[in-house]
Formats: sequence, C-alpha cells, structure tokens
Amino acid sequence: MKLRTHYIFSVGLISIILALTFNLSFFTNLFISFYTSFLGNTIIDRLGHEMKWSKHGYIPTRTPLTHTVLRSIMWGLVSVLTLLLLFYDYYHYTLILPIIISGIIVGPSHMLLDVFTESGIYTKKNGKWIRIALAHFSYNNVFVNGVSSLIGILLLFLSYSLSIH
Ligand SMILES: [Zn+2]
Repeated sequence: MKLRTHYIFSVGLISIILALTFNLSFFTNLFISFYTSFLGNTIIDRLGHEMKWSKHGYIPTRTPLTHTVLRSIMWGLVSVLTLLLLFYDYYHYTLILPIIISGIIVGPSHMLLDVFTESGIYTKKNGKWIRIALAHFSYNNVFVNGVSSLIGILLLFLSYSLSIH
C-alpha cells in the first residue's frame, strides 16, 4: 500500500483505540497517533522495501526485516522510544501506557493493509520466509488505497466524537 495510505489508516486506527481505552483530550490523542503513525510507518517501509530490477523495470519489493507481524510490533515500539523518553516524568506518567499501546498497534495496522497487496507480508514456515497475501492488488491500486484512507478518516472522526473535549 502507498505510504500516505498507511499514515492515514494508522492514525485512524490508533486514535479510535486510544479514544476507547483512555481518557485523553482529542489533541493529546491526535498528537500520539500522528507521531506514531508517521514514524512507525516510515521506518517499516523505508527499512522494509527495496527496489528490485525485474522485466517491468524497478519495482518495490518487501523484505522480511520489517514486514512480519512480530517484527512490525518491534519497529513500532522503536518508533515511540523518543516519545516515551520525552514524557517519562512525574507529570506525564498517564501518557506512558497510551504511547506504548499505540507503538504496539502501528506495525500490525501496516501489515493489515499490506497483506492485501501483491507482495503480501512475510511469515516463517519450516525455517524459510514465505509471503502471504489475502488479495493481490498492486500497491498503488486507486480503489484499495482510497477505501483504506476513507476508513482511516472515518475512524478519526469517530474518535473525535468519543473524546473528551
Ligand atoms: Zn509496507
């Protein structure tokens, strides 16, 4: 999926989960979900995609470095480390758990979209990396990118209406 789609979808998913789980102001919720979504998805795609030469020219392919469910969780947590350090004080301790939760969500939310595209995501079978995909849309398919972005925006609106103001 396109990186921009990942940003929007993850922001929506993280913000709705935070809104349902914690009593954060919408601004705080938005700050945490934007930060995590931007950094987490950027790390996962920058480290986990490489350009490979094929008969169609250079195409983006995925590597198992970031595109497995477990490793994506690890990279998501790496992406929120700076935020955790920043808020690791007496006044902000209530933000620690929401930040960790959002770090855990961002990776799987990335995998959830990529599993519908043609290169899929990786999983290990008998010690070998194999790709799994539930559908085979191209990564820049307008329809699936549009629908995923729309879901992200709707979730964001929903979390706004659920948040304390
Ligand atoms: Zn990806």
